[in-house]
Amino acid sequence: MMNFLWDLGQEGRIRGAEKQAARAENKTIDLASGAGSVQRRLDVMTLANQALFEILRDRLGISEEEVLYRMAEIDARDGKKDGKIAPRVVSCRRCGRKVSTARQHCMYCAEVVVEGHLYEKS
Ligand SMILES: [Zn+2]
Repeated sequence: MMNFLWDLGQEGRIRGAEKQAARAENKTIDLASGAGSVQRRLDVMTLANQALFEILRDRLGISEEEVLYRMAEIDARDGKKDGKIAPRVVSCRRCGRKVSTARQHCMYCAEVVVEGHLYEKS
């Protein structure tokens, strides 16, 4: 009787572990799929950026050094040279309250937040 109960308990634990492993496998598949999608979008944006740079270089004579210099300047605007654009907190032009540059409008008075970068607006 003791062995039967012990076996029953073990089977339950094994089934629980199998279900947990299946959930982990599904989650891994979902994450891999999402990473693939992000990589494809990054590849397209990289290609588009290269095309835009070459058009600017060919039509306006803008050099790669000028682009790299501007990238470094923009990167440093948030106080950190980390290769990223981070939102900043600024004062609203109308109500003076603190708002994030990631916002398109002040959350208190709906004034347009003009500071910040084009691609960080939500
Ligand atoms: Zn405001």
